Formats: sequence, C-alpha cells, structure tokens
Amino acid sequence: MANGATVFPSRNTNPSVLVSETTPGLVCAHHHLYSALARGMPPTPKVARTFREILEQVWWRLDMALDLETIEWSAKLGALEALEAGTTTIIDHHESPNAIEGSLSVIAAACSEVGVRVLPAYGVTDRHGPQGAKQGLAENERFLKGGGEGFVGIHAAFTCTDETLEAAAGLAEDLGVGVHIHVCEGPEDLEAPPRLMHLSRPDWLLAHSVHLTTDHQIQGTIVHNPASNLNTGVGYADPRRFANPVALGTDGIGGDVLGAFRLAHYLHRSVEPTASPEAAWRWLATGWDLVPSAKMDRVTWSYSPMEPWHVAFTPVVRPLEIEINGEVVWKDGAPTRVDPDEIRVKAQEQARRLHARL
Ligand SMILES: [Zn+2]
Repeated sequence: MANGATVFPSRNTNPSVLVSETTPGLVCAHHHLYSALARGMPPTPKVARTFREILEQVWWRLDMALDLETIEWSAKLGALEALEAGTTTIIDHHESPNAIEGSLSVIAAACSEVGVRVLPAYGVTDRHGPQGAKQGLAENERFLKGGGEGFVGIHAAFTCTDETLEAAAGLAEDLGVGVHIHVCEGPEDLEAPPRLMHLSRPDWLLAHSVHLTTDHQIQGTIVHNPASNLNTGVGYADPRRFANPVALGTDGIGGDVLGAFRLAHYLHRSVEPTASPEAAWRWLATGWDLVPSAKMDRVTWSYSPMEPWHVAFTPVVRPLEIEINGEVVWKDGAPTRVDPDEIRVKAQEQARRLHARL
C-alpha cells in the first residue's frame, strides 16, 4: 500500500524538503459520470426512505432514460468538473440499460476530448433479465478487447445471479483486468461476501463496503465514498478497520477528491478523536497504486504546502495548471482543449431532455 507521505512531502517525515505546490494528478476511484445530469431532476413519484428505494426511485429510473447523447454530455461535464478539482483520472462505473452497446466508448471519447483519463466499466446486472446481463458483459468485453483501459463492471451481488457473477469475474481474469463492483453499500447486499470471496482477486475494486464485516475475505481495494454514504443514509464505512487497501471516491457527487479526503478525515475523527489526517491522505494516495500513470500528471495548486494537516483545514484549494500525459489541459482557471461554457449549456439541454423522459 502506498505511503502518501513519500509522494506528498510532509513536514513531519521529511522536514528538509522544500514543499512544492505541484503534486501528481488525483484519482477518483469510484465515480458515476452519468449522474452529472441528475441534478435538478423532478421529484420522485414516491418518497424514497431506504437505500433500496433511493436506487429504485432515483438511480434505476435515471439510468433507464439514458441514451448515448446524454451519456456523452454527462461525461464531458463530469470530466470538466474533475479538472476543476485537480482530478486527472476517473474510475467510472456506468449503467444505461437502454443504451448499452458503445456506451463505454462514448464515455472514453468524451473524457479524452476534455483531456481527462478515464477507466470505465459497465455495471452488469440481472435486473433486466439474462439478456440485459449478457449485453452488459458484451459491452465490457467489446471495450476492453478494443484496447480500452478499464475494469469489468458488476452492479452488485444482490442484483446478479451466481452465473452472472462468475461470468464477469471470468471475463476480467481472461482479460487481465480487475472487477469494479458495489459491495455491501446498504443492508440489501449483506449476502455478498460468501458469493464473492472465492471469485475476487487483489485487482478488484469494492465500492462502499459500509455493511461489509471487518473479517470478510473479499480481495481488492475498498473504495470509500464518504459524501455519498452520508447522503444515502447507509452509515459510516469506518474503512480503518479493513486489512484491504482503501482508496477514495465520490460515487458520482462530482470529481472533488480533496473534498472526499477532508470528509473522510472528519468522519474518521468523529469515531477516533485523536485520528491524524495522514490516514485519509494514505487513502487518497492509494489512487496512484490503482492508476500509476496519474503519478506522472502534474497539478499546480493555489495553496502551499499541499500536506495533510494543511489541506484538511483549507476547504478551497484550486488547481492553477494541470498537465496530463505531458499536455497542459488546464491553465488560468479554464480548460485548454474545450469550451467550458459550451459543455455547461449542452449538458443543461441534455439534462432537461433526460428529466422530461423520467
Ligand atoms: Zn456507486
């Protein structure tokens, strides 16, 4: 597991090093770019009171209404908002049951246009019958075999048959990539561990894990999504209790991973008043174990020093310049490759079209 202090110079461990304002690019280890268009959606038909009702009333209605055009503009808006927060790499988890084929390529192209690195996955599920599960698997296979970088996605064990879980795990193993799956986000998924432990491998991404028992035997990196977990009322994951590596994500609530770091630290303090922000900083740094190329990206920040005891208590830190794959994609408060106003206007148009279809 990465030690954040070796990457972000810390005054505690390396007092002789002059702290620079430039860091590697941040990695959001669990995102849903399509949720960029959810903001402002009309009220749900029924009030959602539980995690399952939130899925049914909000996300499973929204994902049914997605088409390739809404996916494209939500990804561009999400990529733009990631850059605004110094996030150069997005690990995306996508579902669009009525527009499966080609969806991962649309996301990859949209992010590439903005200049942001994305590793997408299509979340396979049996919610729409065995044919839907097959189509989801095929989209992962098509994208990855075509040279795309990403994961094989599974929605979650509780919406999949054992056959589908085995097929997705087998596909990932054949292609030499990990599986990106929601695990025990809510109490609905408590049966996941015995169904996944024999399939899992160290390159899996286990999003949320709020209701995962501490002594579970699923291999992989746990992705902690503090803002989303609070918003869905599923509880505190308390990721310090796991032996697995821990990374940070937003679960679709924007691309601000430093924000996720701050919230992760505050929540850590809420259960352990002496906790150091170095712990959440290490979770942030795990992103570079998942996507080492992000370490070569350079973000020059509006604040110095970029070290945990400072950043935890500096709520607004902005990137001044961002270089991804050797190219400057952000300068003087704006993206260099795209027109941000055009993206916002087009995304708003697509959001209105999407909301009208709900
Ligand atoms: Zn998620």
